[in-house]
Amino acid sequence: MTVFLVGAGPGHPGLITRRGAEVLARADVVVHDRLVPVELLALAPPGSLIVDVGKRPGEDRRQEEINALLVEHAMAGRTVVRLKGGDPFVFGRGGEEAMALTAAGVLFEVVPGVTAAFAAPAYAGVPVTHRGLASSVTVVTGRVGEEETGSVDWESLGRAGGTLVVLMGMAKRADIARRLRGGGRPADTPVLVVEQGATSRQRSVRCRLDELHAVELGAPATIVIGEVARLDMQWFVPGPLAGRTVVVTRAAERVGALVEPLRAAGAQVVHLPVVQTVDPEDGGTALSEAVARAPAFSWVVFTSATAVDRALSLLPDLRALGTVRLAAVGPATAQSLRERQLVADLVAEPASAEGLVSCMPQPSEGANVSVLYPRAAGASPVLADGLRAKGWKVEDVVAYRTVALPAVASRHLLDRVRAADVITFTSPSTVHAFLEVGGSAAVPPLVACIGPVTAEAARRAGLHVDVVADEHSAEGLVAAVVTALS
Ligand code: SAH
Repeated sequence: MTVFLVGAGPGHPGLITRRGAEVLARADVVVHDRLVPVELLALAPPGSLIVDVGKRPGEDRRQEEINALLVEHAMAGRTVVRLKGGDPFVFGRGGEEAMALTAAGVLFEVVPGVTAAFAAPAYAGVPVTHRGLASSVTVVTGRVGEEETGSVDWESLGRAGGTLVVLMGMAKRADIARRLRGGGRPADTPVLVVEQGATSRQRSVRCRLDELHAVELGAPATIVIGEVARLDMQWFVPGPLAGRTVVVTRAAERVGALVEPLRAAGAQVVHLPVVQTVDPEDGGTALSEAVARAPAFSWVVFTSATAVDRALSLLPDLRALGTVRLAAVGPATAQSLRERQLVADLVAEPASAEGLVSCMPQPSEGANVSVLYPRAAGASPVLADGLRAKGWKVEDVVAYRTVALPAVASRHLLDRVRAADVITFTSPSTVHAFLEVGGSAAVPPLVACIGPVTAEAARRAGLHVDVVADEHSAEGLVAAVVTALS
């Protein structure tokens, strides 16, 4: 029943201390801020309670509520880790929490962390002190004049030499620069601004004090003012997509596989799930019934990864497929079979319904001519008709419906989409639904498609396709986007 006030470090999950990782690994409850690296939450034991008390501007969960939460869980005999960005005692309100715990008679331990105030500049190649350039460093909050942090005498700080590190200073950066200059800091004092330091998304800008107001970086950012900001010992390479914004249109059910590698590469991801896959109107009865007869078919043909997922998840034992042959409309669909340890006997070339019809063999005399075709509701009849014309007996069963989700497209979200660098499409339905929701005016400069089927749908819809993944999987799409943007 101890509360550990743990510093999570500034962004890179490796920058937590050993003690921090140790107590996290045996936490019953983790109460964390928004800025802690998400990878660290995975260190908590499975089944532990993870509470996000992230304070976004304007929707602060009140500090008293957080204090009460810590006390309540500790009193119930649980091991509580209060995980905070950077160091818990550097502008982290860790002191207030420690005082509340003391008042409630709860034992606690402070596990200091690597503060962003020093680590963010270090990751951007700037030491906060340097022989001959700065013999002092002052860490100050930029929440100027807010009662809770008290007032800052910027003019005196302007007069004093040394390095100034401003946390939470972006909103008031123009005022801060003006007041420091008023105190005597020269207009040409070097400044470094580091956004999301020590993460794969790190970006930094260097400027002069009189240019600080024009720096457009987002939170969290650390501002370093002083002669040391002239130094530039580049060593850290952020992700290849740092500073880039990528739109993901895929349905929420399948989005993780795409969003995770994009984030790992440093991209900002705007998720606009324009489609949703839902059960067929009959709730899936026809599909389960058909899948139960899977061994009786000669072929099963798949035209989407979703069809693969929907149909095969109904199969209690993969061995029931026995010698049933599997056809995929294109490489992305074949890849989703591979993810289930199944190899397609046929991958259409070209990757289209027509291509699949022409690649499918003619049934041989006296052989089993049954084909199962689990499809999307409203799919074009090209494939089923074509196969029938070839002599196959096709049982096409609706496996799912793809419905457009226009409601998610708030004006704000569409503005972010328009301002992004790339949009990704992972199926023809995402192309069509996106155009319905945002129109072609909302399409960012670069269009990236997971494979040829999707690319063809995009072209037919009038889009210019810039990137088609060579490997038709989420990772392949991310790799293609990285190549296109670097
Ligand atoms: N306790 C934290 C600071 C909390 S105040 C620490 O010791 O690091 C939050 C501010 O810290 C942000 O507004 C920003 O100024 C700075 N900050 C936190 N993480 C950062 C990061 N990864 N890169 C740059 N600045 C960061």
